[in-house]
Amino acid sequence: MSDKIEKTDEEWKKTLTPEQYHVLREKGTERAFTGEYADTHDPGTYRCAGCGNPLFSSETKYESGSGWPSFYEPIAKDAVATETDRKFMMARTEVLCARCGGHLGHVFPDGPEPTGQRYCMNSAALKLEKKE
Ligand code: FE
Repeated sequence: MSDKIEKTDEEWKKTLTPEQYHVLREKGTERAFTGEYADTHDPGTYRCAGCGNPLFSSETKYESGSGWPSFYEPIAKDAVATETDRKFMMARTEVLCARCGGHLGHVFPDGPEPTGQRYCMNSAALKLEKKE
């Protein structure tokens, strides 16, 4: 993507809530079953809470039982970026917003068909734009 967004920590602090800042900019994780979208079934588009980039369609959201909003694929291949995360002595795949670099969550290879992927996201990193 050519329209990448770069801001200083101070600038992000002005536009994000403390929880959004913790997840998106400090790679935090909200507690399971506490997030706004863990149990949401409304149709619409989940955008990045930091920059508004469309990330996931509600059509790919499914019940993973994990307590975090889970999707089997991003809305577009270039919507998210991935990186290897070696925190906590295990290699996991971190998922980031491709536009602003915000931390969204992780992706695991135990999702449902058709992709077999589980994009395990933080509600605080997302903003649902409901379909009218
Ligand atoms: Fe973003």
